[in-house]
This record gives sequence, C-alpha cells and structure tokens, in this order.
Amino acid sequence: MSAPLVKLEGINFYYNRGKPSEVHALKDINLEIERGGYVAFFGPSGCGKTTLTYLIGGIETENTDEGHILINGRDLRGLSKKELAVYRQVGVGIIFQQFNLLPSLTVLDNVALPMAFLGISVDRRRKEAMKLLDRFSMTSKADRFPSELSGGQQQRVSIARALANNPPLIIADEPLGNLDSENANKALEFLKELNEKDGRTIIMVTHESWSLRDAKTIFYLKDGELIRKEQPEKKKEAQKKLSEHLYHNLFPDVTPERLMARSLSYMLMRGFSGDEIKRFEMFLAKRLAGEIDTPTFIDFLDSPYKEGGVGLWKQRAIAIAKTVEDIVEKRKTVEDVYTDLQKDPETPLYEAVSKMRSWLLEDYKGILSDIQIVRFDEAVEDRFRNIISPENFRQVLELPRVDFGVGLAPGTVRTISEKLETILTGKNLQVFH
Ligand code: ADP
Ligand code: MG
Repeated sequence: MSAPLVKLEGINFYYNRGKPSEVHALKDINLEIERGGYVAFFGPSGCGKTTLTYLIGGIETENTDEGHILINGRDLRGLSKKELAVYRQVGVGIIFQQFNLLPSLTVLDNVALPMAFLGISVDRRRKEAMKLLDRFSMTSKADRFPSELSGGQQQRVSIARALANNPPLIIADEPLGNLDSENANKALEFLKELNEKDGRTIIMVTHESWSLRDAKTIFYLKDGELIRKEQPEKKKEAQKKLSEHLYHNLFPDVTPERLMARSLSYMLMRGFSGDEIKRFEMFLAKRLAGEIDTPTFIDFLDSPYKEGGVGLWKQRAIAIAKTVEDIVEKRKTVEDVYTDLQKDPETPLYEAVSKMRSWLLEDYKGILSDIQIVRFDEAVEDRFRNIISPENFRQVLELPRVDFGVGLAPGTVRTISEKLETILTGKNLQVFH
C-alpha cells in the first residue's frame, strides 16, 4: 500500500515559544489524508485550523521540531529550502479566505504567476491561465484588476490560481467566508468537481457546518486538539441500513402514518391515561391516512369515552384537530421536499426550511438573532437531507452560541425536535447523494 498523501505524526506547534505570549496552537495532532480524499477541518475560530494548513502547505515548518509532517511519505521538515519551495509551488494549491490576489497584477497574470516559478514562458503561462479562467467563466475579466471584481469573482480567480501548477492537493482555508450564499454554493461545487472529476485531494477549512456537506472525512478541532474524526457517508450508510432493517423487517405493517400517530399522540395527549392515548392514536392514524375528515375526527375526540370516543372537551378537541391539520399541511411540505430532492438532490431548501422554522418555533417565547436563525435553518436543512442525526440536531440547537450552536434551552429543543421528527417520520430513511 502506498503512503497516504498527508500524514501528521505527533505534531505540536507553538507560537512565540518560551515567551510569555506563548500559544500552544496544535497539540499532539495525528491524522492521515488519503489521496483523492475530501476532508474538512472544522472548529471554532482560534482552534488552530489555519496553523494546521500552514504546516501541511509547507508555509510554516519551523517553530517546533515536535512531530512529523509527511507528504507522500516524505517529511517536509527534512527538505532543503529549494525542495520545500518546489513543494509549495507544485505540490499544493492554497485558496485563502482573503483571496490574496496581487492588486497590481491583472486577473490573468495573477493566475499565471505561480507558473513563473516553473520557468514556463510568458506566452505559454498566459495561455494556460486563460484556460483556467475559462473553466471558471472568467475569461471576460482576464484584463481586469482584482479590485474591479466582486468577491465571488475574486474567489474564482483565486481557485484558478491555486490550480495553476496542477497540484494534487488543494487547501481551501475558509473559502466561503466572504461570499454570499449563491457564490458560496458555487465555490463548494467547484471544490467538489475538483475532487470528483479531477481527482484532487481537498482540504477544506471551515467553521460553518453547512459547508461540510461534501466532505467525506471531517476532523473536529478544539483548542488546538483533534477531538474527533467523522466519516458521514460511512455513518450514514450504517444508519440507513439499520433503520431500513428496523423499519421494514421488524415492523412490516407499520406505515409512516401510524408511526406519526404514535409519536404525536404522546405529544398532544400528555397527561392522559394510556387507554385514552391509545384510542386517540387510532383516530389520529385514520385522520393522517385521510380515512376520516376533520369534522368526523373532532366528533370522535369529543364523544364520551364510554361511547367509543376520547372524551375531550369540545374546545380541546377543536384545538387538537387544528394542530393536526397543521401537521398534515406540514407533512405535505415534507412530501414535496422529498419529491424535489429525489429529482435533484441539490434542490435548495431555503423556502421550505424557513416555512418550517416559524412552525417549529411557534411556542418559543424568545426572539432569535440573525445568527441563531441561520444556524437553526442549517440544522433543519441538514436534518431534511439526513446529513445529521436527530441527536446531532438537538446538540446543535442546544450548544451555546459561542460554540456555534443556537443556544436554546433543553426543554425548547426537545419540543422542536419532537415536532420535526414527527413530520419527518418514515421520510428520511432514504439517502440522497
Ligand atoms: P483558526 O484558523 O482555527 O482560527 P489559527 O490557526 O489561526 O486558528 O490560530 C490558532 C491559535 O494560534 C490562536 O490562539 C491564535 O490566536 C494563535 N495564533 C495564530 N497565529 C499566530 C501568530 N502569528 N502569532 C501568535 N499566535 C498566533
Ligand atoms: Mg483561520
């Protein structure tokens, strides 16, 4: 077996070592990245992501002699200055958050610049650079200066430049930070394409969970430590197999409506006896399956228990029926979402998610800040797409804001999660690629 493309062994890294301002930025990091992989370094600001990419990118190789940075099995710290320069020029392409384009050079020359180190002629360089610009639909801007471009356009130029010398490894440090959502999505698409079509190994650095969607391996960092490694595809596959097995083999005659009725009954009938809940569940399943209409449903709910009803007060019965209507409505939205996703897994879910948000939060008394809303929506969308488990969803909602969560109270989170899982019942067992 060949060596992994990147291997870090026992890396400790300090800024200002021995001084009062010493920062222990990376603590005993061990990790491997296979050729052709797409990995993400994920964690809050200051956790050491950029430092880690500087080590792998050969930008920062001094400051410590603890540990090994192996690229293709060769330790970067054992390379001569010249060898290291070659690695930086052709071994790796870095896309910086700030784009780092040279303001005095045209777009074309910015992209062509890295090739200068290889001694390629100016004409040839420009020709190759033009091809790269073409790939990112940027040829019309070739003679412009970076300051004349939008953020999204500068980003594409910086991706093109990272590709100039055809490096097998692309590092993108927070490549989406300065982009609006449309351009951020495009940038993610480019990275995915570079990985899947061009076979480049991608390292994506981010602190935003939604941008993890294409990563096959996620390394979680916190305070300079690598705290977790996750492979969502593998996990998703395992989860899918398990839930399909449970769903189809253990309960062959259980329909999503009946499962929904069960969880809803407990939600709506808290405080009632087991028998009452059971009877309620039976009517609810019929209503959810469309076998009875709302007036009939209300009739059953407020008929006395002895006569086969649930024995609720009329007002209570009406209120519950209304909630159920609401859920039937939301369930339709869910059906639509999944029909769309089946046609095109990339379908944006923005609208469906924001519709869902007001419903999920209808009992929440507080007000969410813009940032909380963005995170909340991300989490709901990830749940729709089945990228995260119900448990992950609750974690994100509960996690304090400083840790990139929404910061909601446990009770609120429980209610929201119950509601969401109820309308998703039986739906996201399917996996979308
Ligand atoms: P991230 O990219 O995850 O935000 P960084 O790798 O930039 O994190 O920083 C990791 C830690 O190292 C932080 O505590 C940061 O303040 C510190 N740090 C980063 N660069 C320097 C530097 N040049 N000098 C001193 N400390 C630094
Ligand atoms: Mg950083």
